[in-house]
Amino acid sequence: MDNCIFCKIINGEIPSATIYENDEFKVILDRFPGNIGHALILPKKHYANIFEIDEETAGRLFKLAVKVAKHIKETLNIEALNIVQNNGELAGQTVNHFHLHLIPRYTDDKVSVKWEQLELTDEQIAEVQKKLNMQ
Ligand code: AMP
Ligand code: ZN
Repeated sequence: MDNCIFCKIINGEIPSATIYENDEFKVILDRFPGNIGHALILPKKHYANIFEIDEETAGRLFKLAVKVAKHIKETLNIEALNIVQNNGELAGQTVNHFHLHLIPRYTDDKVSVKWEQLELTDEQIAEVQKKLNMQ
């Protein structure tokens, strides 16, 4: 993709702080991190978001995420970490190249991954369940 900043990072046009790479994925430090150690896992092939990536690639990517998360935990001596993955502008995606955020958490840090909880009735939950039932 011509205008994709992560594609440019992957092909070396833009520098990045890479901490791991293999044939398929690159793991870089977020340039504007929420916390020290905030890493991004990027597939080298361009997929805009979760609606474009295939299950096999996503599966391998998440397998790598487990390794990277454990590595960050041990190396930075942290106990908590959020995985965040935004899809679409409305969801906060600013770079339209699929990526997984790994954000280490520290006491009293400024990261927030929260939402206001809706008060739904059991009937409302059942209605949504009926709509989304995949079986
Ligand atoms: P998202 O909002 O989920 O699309 O996340 C995009 C992330 O890319 C943000 O956390 C940015 O800080 C990060 N970012 C933007 N430009 C760069 C860059 N040149 N190198 C590394 N990370 C970047
Ligand atoms: Zn791209």
